[in-house]
Amino acid sequence: MEAGEIETMPEPKVLICMPVDHPGYVVPGSLHWTCHKCKRGVWVAPSSWLILHKHPGMEVYCWGCAFARMEKAPGEIMKLTPTQQKEIVEYRRRY
Ligand SMILES: [Zn+2]
Repeated sequence: MEAGEIETMPEPKVLICMPVDHPGYVVPGSLHWTCHKCKRGVWVAPSSWLILHKHPGMEVYCWGCAFARMEKAPGEIMKLTPTQQKEIVEYRRRY
């Protein structure tokens, strides 16, 4: 495994993203994406699109769909990376 590579076990299949209609802070540089399940618009933060780039098979889910799925298959949801955690801390600091 290369340095800096995200260690994941098992291979993550779902990336959780913030819905675009959620009010508040959006990480600068976020891309507009669509929830795989409900087709709602979501924001993919820069830290997350790097993950998507490394795992092309990953599905992007909005919070609602991700949490519903997590109850059924917890192992399929990716853990937060340190960069994502920083983004969330930034979000919480502002709102
Ligand atoms: Zn959804």
